[in-house]
Amino acid sequence: MGNTIWMPQLSTAQCSGCGECIANCPTGALGWIQGKAALLYPERCSYCATCESTCPTGAIALPYVVLKAKGE
Ligand code: SF4
Ligand code: SF4
Repeated sequence: MGNTIWMPQLSTAQCSGCGECIANCPTGALGWIQGKAALLYPERCSYCATCESTCPTGAIALPYVVLKAKGE
């Protein structure tokens, strides 16, 4: 788990191609693949969740890590 990098997951099937996530991503991590939004530059993603909250179709989900209490 320690080496896991969590990234937004985009569902191509649910994407309507509205472009809201691409327009609102503060780091420019998103772009187009065949008319659907995609995480083109994952290294730029700051995991801010703006895309998730912006998407009107619920096509984007961020897996959230459960943090362990200190000492566990
Ligand atoms: S989580 Fe933030 S930085 Fe990452 S793709 Fe979504 S809007 Fe862009
Ligand atoms: S905001 Fe959602 S529906 Fe719109 S382009 Fe992005 S992933 Fe697709």
